[in-house]
Amino acid sequence: DPRIDGIKTKIRVVPDFPKKGIMFQDITTLLLDPKAFKDTIDLFVERYRDMNISVVAGIEARGFIFGSPIALAIGAKFVPLRKPKKLPGQIIFEEYELEYGSDRLEMHVEAVDSGDRALVVDDLIATGGTLCAAMNLLSKFFSFFNNISLVPKLLLSFKWLPIDSNHLPLQ
Ligand code: 5GP
Repeated sequence: DPRIDGIKTKIRVVPDFPKKGIMFQDITTLLLDPKAFKDTIDLFVERYRDMNISVVAGIEARGFIFGSPIALAIGAKFVPLRKPKKLPGQIIFEEYELEYGSDRLEMHVEAVDSGDRALVVDDLIATGGTLCAAMNLLSKFFSFFNNISLVPKLLLSFKWLPIDSNHLPLQ
């Protein structure tokens, strides 16, 4: 898809951020280009609009930026998966390991129903730990793991994590 090369050029790579040895993929530069941003959203909308997805779960914080417009366009509800102590209602949570220490994602318990089919969105995959935590959190709500259509994240560096063989690489 010719749009992908255009999108790639808009992601700024920042060496040694936030610490030495990390090549940080900065998507804020993509957001400055309305066409590239729209192309990014359109690619995912085209892929997922006919898959009966009823929930788009966005991972804080950059998953909110990409997940919300995808949810609106495919007619799904948007559910934020948040860092600790941000949600006022009853929550469930999933802890996951970071390089140093641990973190967790939280979700309102009333946000999804057992009949929902969920798409998880974030901006980037590195180790996959955050995405796995999001999957585990959502799977607590579904009777069968297969009900979860776990979708890659890595919108933006266009590497693909083959989590689910139903989903083909973007290229
Ligand atoms: P993982 O859990 O896969 O190791 O890390 C992915 C999470 O960290 C995602 O939520 C993502 O937003 C953030 N992240 C890690 N590295 C980068 C990066 O280089 N650029 C951006 N934009 N986010 C990153």
